[in-house]
Amino acid sequence: MSTPKLELVGLKKEFADGSVAAVDGIDLAVEEGQTLALLGPSGCGKSTTLNMIVGLEQPSSGDIRIDGRSVVAVPPGRRNVGLVFQDYAVFTSMSVRENLAFGLRVRGQRKAEIDRAVGEVAELLGLSTMLNGNARDLGGSELQRVAIGRTLVTRPAILLLDEPLSNLEAGTRLATRRELRRLQKEAGLTIIYVTHDQVEALSLADWIAVMSAGKIRQVAPASLICQQPDNIFVASFMGTPPMNLLRGALTRADGGYVFRKDAFVVGLLPGTDIGEAADLPVTIGIRPEEVRLCASGEAGLPARVLLAEPRGSETVVTLETGGQVIKAVIASDHRPTEGRDVMLEIDAASLVLFSGETNRRLP
Ligand code: ATP
Repeated sequence: MSTPKLELVGLKKEFADGSVAAVDGIDLAVEEGQTLALLGPSGCGKSTTLNMIVGLEQPSSGDIRIDGRSVVAVPPGRRNVGLVFQDYAVFTSMSVRENLAFGLRVRGQRKAEIDRAVGEVAELLGLSTMLNGNARDLGGSELQRVAIGRTLVTRPAILLLDEPLSNLEAGTRLATRRELRRLQKEAGLTIIYVTHDQVEALSLADWIAVMSAGKIRQVAPASLICQQPDNIFVASFMGTPPMNLLRGALTRADGGYVFRKDAFVVGLLPGTDIGEAADLPVTIGIRPEEVRLCASGEAGLPARVLLAEPRGSETVVTLETGGQVIKAVIASDHRPTEGRDVMLEIDAASLVLFSGETNRRLP
């Protein structure tokens, strides 16, 4: 296996005034050319992790390796890591060209080299026609691209983006997201992308690391993390709405197993390996997208529609069934009326089981 571009090994940060570690011993590897999103709620340690990678914070323990070499003792300016914050670090008194050239000028590079690098980066970021304009006349998306460009001209080995879209309004945010995706592909950059917005993470990243309380709860390809959460934290964090999680027990029935919680009963796929979990408490995960609504009278679980909340082409339906409240996501053109009785069908193959003791996925 090749050496990862970036490796975090047992990385920990305890601030002098804090009783708990802001970053609590994380391990992470990012391959060259990949984008990893560090996703988690506010205060979970994302920015502290980035600050340690770039060198603005010193770790309490653990190691940071770039191309296999420890950089913990290397000063920030020499690590070849670029960091772009949500507050665009752009000089509004300068032109776009001067902004892009800044990092190379302070390094004393020759004018011809600077012009070439600025031209390339401007082309990559779609800023070529704006080079002579003043930065103060730019909109949010353009400012953010200039901020990224200012970092890119220095050719960082790794680009760290800390909530780069969070100050942009919705429309501009989408456009900038598309620009970023193009940039990733064309420049083949290794990127760590910090966000608390899972839609952003899922649409931009190859890999997602879900973080909470200073720890990494799961690292998985973006395409898998919603389907195969390792534990209840990730299951309850990913998805809008997240998985329905019900705590109950598994019992034998008809040669297989059923999950029961009060009057709610759902059969597992025949042959499901449940390990030691029979008769022990478990939590079952039901993805809202896997709950189907049928007309009353058909086979399935009887349910009542409590709420139907349209969100464009999909509707989030809150249902009561067997004494439980669960959510379904269905196409809006099949939207049921609130208060109506319906039947539910849940695809047994999509059920996810978690140990009631460890909160980890079974088996
Ligand atoms: P947000 O999305 O709100 O920026 P985050 O996930 O980036 O949050 P951090 O900013 O890394 O989280 O903060 C992690 C924890 O460390 C928080 O509890 C925060 O209060 C604490 N913390 C961060 N910086 C310092 C500091 N300089 N001194 C003391 N505590 C700090």
